[in-house]
Amino acid sequence: MKINDYVFNLSLRCNACGKENNSGYFCDGCKEILPYNNVFCGKCGRSTINKEDFCNSCQGQELHFEKARSAFKYQEPINVMIKRLKYRHKKYLSKIFCPILSYLILTEFADTDFIINVPMHKKDKFLRGYNQTQVLAQEISKNIDIPLKNDIFKKCVRTKRQATLNKDERKKNLKNAFVLQDKKLVKGKVITIIDDIMTTGSTVETLAEKLIKAKAKKVYVLTIASVGERERNLPKKYYSLWQKIKNSKLFAKIFQKKYLHNQKNIVK
Ligand SMILES: [Zn+2]
Ligand SMILES: [Zn+2]
Repeated sequence: MKINDYVFNLSLRCNACGKENNSGYFCDGCKEILPYNNVFCGKCGRSTINKEDFCNSCQGQELHFEKARSAFKYQEPINVMIKRLKYRHKKYLSKIFCPILSYLILTEFADTDFIINVPMHKKDKFLRGYNQTQVLAQEISKNIDIPLKNDIFKKCVRTKRQATLNKDERKKNLKNAFVLQDKKLVKGKVITIIDDIMTTGSTVETLAEKLIKAKAKKVYVLTIASVGERERNLPKKYYSLWQKIKNSKLFAKIFQKKYLHNQKNIVK
């Protein structure tokens, strides 16, 4: 074990339930019931009931990214961990997500030339002290020796939270927020965008559109977690009720174990 692991307490406690644990980032019990995203839409990568080429949301949509994948569904404990990574300065959590995201690049996006992360406005970055997607992308870049070009885009306008806006407002909101700074660098290249969560998908779609218009060959999207197709279309009050049911231990016991996949072997 490295000294860092002691300092950051990476593996002395389970990162999901907090119980004492000495065998990796998660205890055996939590490792079994992490919300792995195994059944998903072939295009946007959101969890669906059956594996399908296009979920309802993607059908008839013209999306500029080739395909998107996420390691987990946006459920407990992953949603809590992402919030800690994002707002609580727990940057070490990127080390936990790095192996499974690296695995997805190597298996799903093997032709990637370089990765980029979703940029933050400099004021927001200053206030937070870091950009969590950049920390994550740096970790992945180091892990599988893939170049990270994080200065291709600049975020020039501070945007409102996407989730609170409707579709047209989101588009308008994002349209001029990101500027592609180096068009030459993207021409003919296969690029994977790294983000933390896929909620509406409009941010990564905006970036993908700009890259494709600048003649990038292909754009992929990789996130730690995504909001499932069904949850995405539920009205807010039903969504929170559904989340409560789904996050209950009983529900996990009955359903989630059924859908375990060999991905669990990658999470330490
Ligand atoms: Zn645990
Ligand atoms: Zn889809």
